[in-house]
Amino acid sequence: MTTNRVQALQTVLTRTIPEVKPPSDKISDFYASNIFNNANMLAFLPKETYEAVQESIESGSSISREVAEKIASAMKAWSMSKGVTHYTHWFQPLTGSTAEKHDSFFEPGSDGKAIERFSGDALVQQEPDASSFPNGGIRSTFEARGYTAWDPSSPAFIFGKTLCIPTVFVSYTGEALDYKAPLLKALSIMDKAATDVCHYFDKNIKKVSASLGIEQEYFLVDIALFNARPDLYLTGRTLFGHASAKGQQLEDHYFGSIPDRVYAYMQDFETEALKLGIPLKTRHNEVAPSQFECAPIYEEINLAIDHNQLLMDVMDKVAKRHHFKVLLHEKPYAGINGSGKHNNWSLITDTGKNLLSPGKTPKNNLMFLAFLVNTIKAIYEHADLLRASIASVSNDHRLGANEAPPAIISIFLGEQLNDILDEIETSKISKKTKEAEMWHSIPKIPQILLDNTDRNRTSPFAFTGNKFELRAVGSSANSSNPMTILNMIVAEQLIKFKADVDKLIEKGDQKEVALLTIIKKYTKESKKIRFEGNGYSQEWAAEAEKRGLQNIKTTPRALDALVSKETEKIFEKTGVFTKREAHARHEILLEIYYKKLQIEARIMCELVTNMIIPSAIKYQSDIINNVKGLKDIGFSKDTYEAQIHIIEELSKHINFIKTNVYEMTEERKKANVIKDSREKAIAYDEKVKAYFDPIRYHVDKLELLIDDAIWPLPKFRELLFIK
Ligand code: ADP
Ligand code: MG
Repeated sequence: MTTNRVQALQTVLTRTIPEVKPPSDKISDFYASNIFNNANMLAFLPKETYEAVQESIESGSSISREVAEKIASAMKAWSMSKGVTHYTHWFQPLTGSTAEKHDSFFEPGSDGKAIERFSGDALVQQEPDASSFPNGGIRSTFEARGYTAWDPSSPAFIFGKTLCIPTVFVSYTGEALDYKAPLLKALSIMDKAATDVCHYFDKNIKKVSASLGIEQEYFLVDIALFNARPDLYLTGRTLFGHASAKGQQLEDHYFGSIPDRVYAYMQDFETEALKLGIPLKTRHNEVAPSQFECAPIYEEINLAIDHNQLLMDVMDKVAKRHHFKVLLHEKPYAGINGSGKHNNWSLITDTGKNLLSPGKTPKNNLMFLAFLVNTIKAIYEHADLLRASIASVSNDHRLGANEAPPAIISIFLGEQLNDILDEIETSKISKKTKEAEMWHSIPKIPQILLDNTDRNRTSPFAFTGNKFELRAVGSSANSSNPMTILNMIVAEQLIKFKADVDKLIEKGDQKEVALLTIIKKYTKESKKIRFEGNGYSQEWAAEAEKRGLQNIKTTPRALDALVSKETEKIFEKTGVFTKREAHARHEILLEIYYKKLQIEARIMCELVTNMIIPSAIKYQSDIINNVKGLKDIGFSKDTYEAQIHIIEELSKHINFIKTNVYEMTEERKKANVIKDSREKAIAYDEKVKAYFDPIRYHVDKLELLIDDAIWPLPKFRELLFIK
């Protein structure tokens, strides 16, 4: 009998590369053709309505019923002209993926005929009765209603035959049940706080938007091999698998030529993404075998995140056509690099100025320093909250695993900027200087920092010339979570900054003196978070501890920061989360954490019991028969010593695995009856998960011992190298 593995390997050999034909050789011919963007709006809407919508989007004010009605009907006309039959509100519940519930445009009329209808009401708000989404106790069943409400700042798009309308998802009582609602709140606070600070330098600035460019790493594996690995399709990662003889040690994959089959897939999903207005720009091989990356041009942050969520969906769907499975898990394979999602972030004014880019004049440089130093201070004050925002069971494998940033939050600035901040810290600020001369006391910042910043790949939060790059986000994460926190803490810091500066001005300081004084103060206060060295090193862990920086390695404890007293204060002050929302989220994240470990532990037991041990026993029986045979025909013991040794080895591993799987199950039973979610998550982490590595070690040893023909699970070399 052939194993699933052998069948899968045979299937892979028959693969052909599907033909991929983009609609045109010029991307500009089809870019954004599937979104209801300004051009389409103009074509399908009366001019006044178009202007009213633009005004609402700009100012964030609500759209009148009348206008909504007109937009809905324009959306319907536009999408039906492209073969669309259904519409859905598209939202981002706390499950981590996106959700949709399709309704048809079709409505039966009273005269027995039917019409196609899409009303303003249906566009603006819906009640998807989504009572089974995680809500952390916010929605008890009697108030189980959840509403989705249109986010006009993110354009509607066509996916398949459905018109999708980006929405927030809130409870009947107005509490956020999704990722988008808190993000929008944080962005609005950021806009106000940053604009206020900008006014010290430039009164013409009316709006500040956060921008985000998300680099997305992923693995590809043939779908037949994927389907032969129950651990992979149930948990997104391999729970067993001996390292392949060849892994990433030759570094021959990184930036290497892209394999043909993968290239076709990339072209295909890029085309679909481009049609959706996702501005994909970059593609390349990553470090690990079968690992790749794509990155778009940065956009306004809310849009960038919607696009990333949509992109993950597109990648998954298009992969099917190519008989691939795309793995977005942070660590599909132990022992080689995992995947991240670098979040490149900056702040950009409506006048087109990047606030994290040094300018030509001393005045611009002071503005740059103000935003730089406030960002550093915010991270210093709330590192634990930022750490919590990237915590997940899958990202735990990555943070600190010697290839991704450590769980210690620190900031890398590059030598030049670091020196400049050191200079500021020790500078003397004279209050008597004339205003014109004052500007000259501001340190000179080379305009082109970009090419001078040495790229420190080991830092979780690195300045890269004109933006910060948060590298600790996991590849499968919704970036809203960390971006909500980042924008909220920086906004709150900017509010404090303004209050501090204004106080000095009121006392009679010149504006520039006041600004520099506070910048200097903050630079000093936040110095400990700055680190230029190797973030992977042991020395840094020790040094960070001395500095009092936290190094929380696992999710259940990292999440404590979400509900700490300090956090409660900043949530309340900014209004981004109510106390109830914060606690609900804490609860949900803990639940997801232990449930995922529970699934991993279960599938581990099943694979061991139903696949691994049986093949070990079968192989052992074969050898026993061989020994018996040799004995029967008169061979002496020394001729089958090796066989005896293998038999003993097999027994040793089988016994170890059997005993430990039993003990792990006992620990699971104990953990399962714990009521408190935090305690339960910790029990799963420290008691249950503790068995994973030892069990795996012995399973992987068996993989090396047993006849290849009967080993049931596709091996790492097959998963990683067969294309
Ligand atoms: P790197 O090689 O440093 O990772 P890239 O220049 O390739 O940098 O940029 C990575 C991502 O950062 C891209 O998505 C890019 O659009 C984005 N990016 C560039 N400038 C900014 C900015 N000012 N704000 C946000 N993202 C940016
Ligand atoms: Mg990068």
